[in-house]
Amino acid sequence: MEVMDEYTRLRTEMVAAQIARRGLRDPRLLAAFQHVQRHLFLPQPLRSHAYEDRPLPIGQNQTISQPYIVALMTSLLELKGEENVLEIGTGSGYQAAILSIMARTVHSIERYQELADAGRARLVRLGCYNVQVHCADGSSGWPQAAPYQAIIVTAAAAAAPKPLLEQLAEGGRLVLPVGGSQGQVLQLWTRESGRLDYQDILPVSFVPLRGEFGWSEDDWGTPDKEE
Ligand code: SAM
Repeated sequence: MEVMDEYTRLRTEMVAAQIARRGLRDPRLLAAFQHVQRHLFLPQPLRSHAYEDRPLPIGQNQTISQPYIVALMTSLLELKGEENVLEIGTGSGYQAAILSIMARTVHSIERYQELADAGRARLVRLGCYNVQVHCADGSSGWPQAAPYQAIIVTAAAAAAPKPLLEQLAEGGRLVLPVGGSQGQVLQLWTRESGRLDYQDILPVSFVPLRGEFGWSEDDWGTPDKEE
């Protein structure tokens, strides 16, 4: 009980200091970050670090992203609650849990079977019944459930993958990091009246998107690592 109270206190502090104070003030967004127990998405030995201002390892050389970056990417999607959302890179399932509160349905794709299985089980345990986790190469999207009003890619691509742009609904928004192992920029893509546009948001550092429309081991250069 005491430990739970301490996590709640740390989460409240995280929302205030790392998210709201940096300018993200949408009450629905802040409520979602206050609700989702980030420590439950981490291996036991790392749980006490869950509310720190940084990414953390989740196994398979992959990471759960920094809370502020998860919040910023979510806010760029401008979710109202009625959207069908695609996430590439389930990882721990934390981002999917946030999306599950803010949208109608979520399809989340993970290439590692172990992460997909653990993420799916965790999301079910936490009652995120509107999320479906699929183990597949998400660089090709998930055409079975397209179109999507919002798409979020939580791994770095060399360029916005064509299949994802094709699966974006009219009026839809796609957010993804674009660049290589030396650094990337977060891009926001929109489709308005059939026309695709993008803007650069800020520099970021993510693990690589692999797969057919992602980075090969050789081209990325270094092992997967997020700063
Ligand atoms: N969103 C995650 C979370 O909340 O924990 C963090 C994602 S982690 C930064 C990036 C994830 O993308 C890793 O789990 C990695 O295995 C996955 N990934 C990389 N390339 C992929 C691909 N082509 N298809 C699906 N998942 C991929």
